[in-house]
Amino acid sequence: MRVTENIHELRTIRRAMPGVFGLIPTMGSLHDGHAAIIRRARLECDHVGVSIFVNPAQFGPEEDLAKYPRALENDLALLESLGVDAVLTPFPENVYPPGYQTWITVENVSKPLEGAARPGHFRGVATVVAKLINIFTPDRAYFGQKDAQQAAVIRRMAEDLNFDVDIVVLPIVREADGLAMSSRNAYLNADERKAAPALYRALSAAKARFETGEKNADMLKAAVIETLSAEPLADVRYVSVADPDTIEELHEIRGGALLSAAVIIGKTRLIDNILLEKR
Ligand code: AMP
Repeated sequence: MRVTENIHELRTIRRAMPGVFGLIPTMGSLHDGHAAIIRRARLECDHVGVSIFVNPAQFGPEEDLAKYPRALENDLALLESLGVDAVLTPFPENVYPPGYQTWITVENVSKPLEGAARPGHFRGVATVVAKLINIFTPDRAYFGQKDAQQAAVIRRMAEDLNFDVDIVVLPIVREADGLAMSSRNAYLNADERKAAPALYRALSAAKARFETGEKNADMLKAAVIETLSAEPLADVRYVSVADPDTIEELHEIRGGALLSAAVIIGKTRLIDNILLEKR
């Protein structure tokens, strides 16, 4: 496994790797959600590259950039054991050197939900993903459904800007009690950790209603809020039933829909979602 902090060196390493190349962009502090994506890429690609970069451009001024968990040594050991070929761990000042001024804004998909709660977040995400795709020139780039709106933003960007890359989005990996794995789960204290699975329970309860015939978005959202109201530590920020590609809110579900929610538990903001599929 070749590891470098240097973007130019990464390009040289990458050029020597023929065949189908898969890229998995991450912010490190890796868990089984990341590992599942890397395993899939390993099966589908001849060479696999991973970036570990806590991207300052996607954090708001009030957000957790400074305390975002970092675990580089463990991450590299995991990546080695998974058979990753190339790892880029760049410094922010080399990704955004003095004079940097180019940003990608994916307009409408970025506006609601996470975009409304975190101004500038998706501009930072789209820009860094575009840069990483230009640096690694992968055939396939892998993302997780955990960040469903992010996946929609990246799919839209790749389509709109004619990126020559397949965007692959893989299912959410969960803890045994249903909590979606996330590096930010490390912020939860013991009581908060016990409360956190309420989010998935609430989404699942609404999904059960959908599957027994409820197609009205307001009714499904009410079901999520009702289940969450049983958990005093969960402060609901939004519940949404939206088109999975455009992230526009739906009223009646005719095809598929993305049911998503954000809650704050203690000081930690958790997001989760379930796809409601046409049957
Ligand atoms: P992050 O390091 O949090 O930026 O995540 C890197 C990639 O892994 C993103 O595409 C995430 O959507 C994905 N990911 C993170 N957690 C999970 C999870 N629990 N299940 C599936 N994918 C995940």
